[in-house]
Amino acid sequence: MSDLIIVGGGLAGCEAAWQAAQRGIKVFLYEMRPNVMTGAHRTAQLAELVCSNSLGSSLLDRPSGLLKEELRRMGSLLVDCADRAALPAGGALAVDREVFASLVTRAIESHPNIRIIREEITSIPNQPAIIASGPLTSANLITSIQQLTGEDHLFFFDAIAPVVQAESVDMQIAYRGSRYKVGSAEAGDYINCPMSEDEYHAFVDQLLAADRIQLRDFEGEIREGVRAGENHFFEGCLPVEILAERGRDTLAFGPMRPIGLRGPGRGARKTFAVLQLRQDDLAGSLFNLVGCQTNLTFAEQSRVFRLIPGLQNAEFARYGQMHRNTFIASPRLLSATLQTREYPDLFFAGQITGVEGYMGNIATGLLAGVNAARVLRGIPPLTLPPATMLGALCNYISHANPADFQPMKANFGILPPIAHPKISRRERAIQCVERALLSLDPILSQFQINS
Ligand code: FAD
Repeated sequence: MSDLIIVGGGLAGCEAAWQAAQRGIKVFLYEMRPNVMTGAHRTAQLAELVCSNSLGSSLLDRPSGLLKEELRRMGSLLVDCADRAALPAGGALAVDREVFASLVTRAIESHPNIRIIREEITSIPNQPAIIASGPLTSANLITSIQQLTGEDHLFFFDAIAPVVQAESVDMQIAYRGSRYKVGSAEAGDYINCPMSEDEYHAFVDQLLAADRIQLRDFEGEIREGVRAGENHFFEGCLPVEILAERGRDTLAFGPMRPIGLRGPGRGARKTFAVLQLRQDDLAGSLFNLVGCQTNLTFAEQSRVFRLIPGLQNAEFARYGQMHRNTFIASPRLLSATLQTREYPDLFFAGQITGVEGYMGNIATGLLAGVNAARVLRGIPPLTLPPATMLGALCNYISHANPADFQPMKANFGILPPIAHPKISRRERAIQCVERALLSLDPILSQFQINS
């Protein structure tokens, strides 16, 4: 049985290392920090949380809560550490980031089957490996991944707008329609959220005052012309708050111009600005906020965008972000087991696969670690049922349309639909959770360490 190399001692890499090591595999975990730092990490600790200290909802009827429950049942090290580092945070699992990272670091350091090597890996290893080098993968390794996948199959993403669940938009206020009625069905391709002048200015005031994520030099590391350090942004995709700084009415005359749109109920004359929401997935369950690529903190995004009429109860499937995000074209390259299609002993895990968010990264790390151990022991790797949240995420990244593949975090929109369309959203969420845990049950024995 050969050894396993894991590149990256972040969330996915640590979980993967633990799972493989627990199954008797000798793991060499390569972490380049502190010798080579990323622009976002600040410490040498493994599993450092680079931004928020919240791992999302703990409530079982929320997507992130369901994913946590699945991971607890599968024996996740990092969720256990998070539970032990938890801080009071209502329905969320927020952690003391120092305690969390120390608990993970200690567990990994003291595991007899894991050796941590503090070195940058500059090319894809020529032996069984998991690449879990994250959204800020070092430039040298990116070049090697590009050689493996083909130049087109690696994306750098500079700015993304938030995505909301369509069913959380208040359609008593918002309306369907395309500018100048251009588009497909009469219903219109877009959901439009109209704002009066007062509502628009209230939104802009809060947008300008809101907390932003600190941008650091790493944004300019790789792509020429894209410098997102202090006040230097790529002109083609300015964050909405930077655009608003250019003048209070800039958005109303730019991406939020009401021209060509006339909604029912709230007359066009009253409408000073319109936020358009564009469909983001085939099922039509997710919509992105057009022109709202942003660098606000996640909490501020919830607060500020909910000021827009129609979005007061919006549920975010993905928050906007402004950073370098390296992710491979997983639908072309990976199977739902997280193996590359070409090399069954080469796995990818974490944000580099296009799975978004701390919990999703831990989760794909877990599956990659379990499956790498199985492959090394000559056992077929596991594909999780798509009715589970982890199964749905792996299904999404391996089967989405490669032409417009975008990162995705845990959300109910990626699960197979529930048969009864008439039930309330909450009932549907409960049914999704029950179905997920029921379909996980029969394969849980495969996650036992000696299986
Ligand atoms: P990481 O946790 O980044 O781990 C990758 C590790 O690989 C790093 O330790 C890195 O040093 C190492 N590495 C990279 N290249 C090499 C190499 N060549 N050789 C050896 N080691 C290497 N998600 C949220 O849910 N909430 C947030 O608030 C949030 N904020 C974010 C803010 C920023 C600035 C960024 C970039 C991302 C954020 N994310 C957030 C997204 C994502 O959840 C995190 O980036 C998460 O840490 C990704 O987990 P990972 O294991 O894939 O990568």
